[in-house]
Amino acid sequence: MVQTLPLFIDGKTVPARATRHLLLEAPETGEPYAQIPLCGSEDVDEAVGVAKGAFPAWRDTPVAERARVLFRYRQILESETEAVATLVSHDHGKTLSDARGEVQRGIEVVEFACGMPSLIQGATVAGVARGIDCHAVREPLGVCAGITPFNFPVMVPMWMYPIAIAAGNTYVLKPSERVPRAALHLAELFKEAGLPDGVFNVVHGGAEAADALIAHPDVRAISFVGSEPVARAIYEKAGARGKRVQALSGAKNHLVVMPDCDPDKTVEGIMGAAYGSAGERCMAVSIVVAVGEAGDALVERLAETAAKLRIGEGAESEMGPLISKQHRERVVRLIEAGVKEKADLVLDGRVHPKTEGPGNFLGATLFDRVSPDMQIYREEIFGPVLSVLRVDTLEEAIAVVNANRYGNGAAIFTGSGEAARRFQSEVSAGMVGINVPVPVPLAFFPFSGWKSSFFGDLHVHGRDGVNFFTETKVVTTRWFEGEGGEGRNMTISLR
Ligand code: NAD
Repeated sequence: MVQTLPLFIDGKTVPARATRHLLLEAPETGEPYAQIPLCGSEDVDEAVGVAKGAFPAWRDTPVAERARVLFRYRQILESETEAVATLVSHDHGKTLSDARGEVQRGIEVVEFACGMPSLIQGATVAGVARGIDCHAVREPLGVCAGITPFNFPVMVPMWMYPIAIAAGNTYVLKPSERVPRAALHLAELFKEAGLPDGVFNVVHGGAEAADALIAHPDVRAISFVGSEPVARAIYEKAGARGKRVQALSGAKNHLVVMPDCDPDKTVEGIMGAAYGSAGERCMAVSIVVAVGEAGDALVERLAETAAKLRIGEGAESEMGPLISKQHRERVVRLIEAGVKEKADLVLDGRVHPKTEGPGNFLGATLFDRVSPDMQIYREEIFGPVLSVLRVDTLEEAIAVVNANRYGNGAAIFTGSGEAARRFQSEVSAGMVGINVPVPVPLAFFPFSGWKSSFFGDLHVHGRDGVNFFTETKVVTTRWFEGEGGEGRNMTISLR
């Protein structure tokens, strides 16, 4: 019998009321290791009710005191990095070094949130009219909720809740049903840091739990990260209920290679960006646009290097398995579609020796001479499959990137400042890399997907994150002369 995972509500682990369960299997071995309850509205109501009850006291806790809890949380996360990364690597299948990287990126958001006493400052204009002052304060919203994907069990939830909580909100997180253990661990560590009970809660499940959070009248804001159809639907549903929404969605990130690029750095950059974490990253590079004569040598070197990738080799591993059997089957079907549509299959991950053993392994796959009408170009594959398109000019390359419906990341590798500058100003994507393959912004900038990669106005973290989790109250003050006390003093000081 595998362990049934509890929920985390009101500062402790509690059994769910839900009676339906989902079995979790380790991606590397296929062995079952736990099951989670698929929560519905009963469990969600409980968690939201507790978060609502905890809100007034947490909101009224001075911001410097709230920040001190975040400082302690940061310290605990630092010392627990290895344990958290090991858990993530087991449950998700990514390599231990990838898992350590994601914990580090999560910690960076906590560091950003530690600055809340400065970040939450409002604005004042003394004397907007005679004897009248105006000041704007940023106040927390209340109960906020996060619905997160499988591919970053630690980092993506941490894009949201540390900022929300530091700003004075309380939180209910519904992590991906495929990697739920990390969230429970993060909640326990937050309690250890001194977070009061009820401020951070975790429920489990899939669409039903997510829908219950969206429908709940006491949830003020929804942060979502996941696939495009779900992001769209959640944006519409939550928006129709008057909630704040930030919905981060799918991607198809392009990397343009100019003939004057540094070939070694370009191949090295593409390898990590395309095949790292088995391509299961929203900022993975899935399309290379080779300009002019850059193509032939590049494809040859990519194929050579990708064929040597160490897959599923323990500590030496450069790439792990895919998240599930079903997802692996979907990626294989897309590779078949590419072959049918006559893309040039240069390296076939379906025949990698690791695919014969247990686990959801697939080798690195490389297609050349892909065109924008092909299914492998149009759909987000979310696996270790890289497609190369050939064009003649930078202008054409930019047109290809801009015609794509997604706009998360886009990068260019070039030795020309002029080409880089043109790319940066003309490309239609929210995060742009110049000789940087995966231009993920640090926590103090917003993670800025465009087009169908994002639905909403305010992005996660950075200043956008603070604004998303707070609302502005503008106070206009007037004191009359001759009333004595502080009011009088204030009026005098305004003269
Ligand atoms: P997913 O859309 O299947 O699931 C995401 C979350 O939504 C999960 O918590 C899931 O339980 C919930 N969910 C699933 N179906 C739902 C429904 N019908 N109604 C309400 N909630 C539902 O995504 P995934 O497979 O876990 O993650 C991979 C996807 O996430 C990829 O498309 C990837 O590009 C995207 N992603 C985007 C970013 C970004 O920053 N833009 C970051 C990470 C992942």
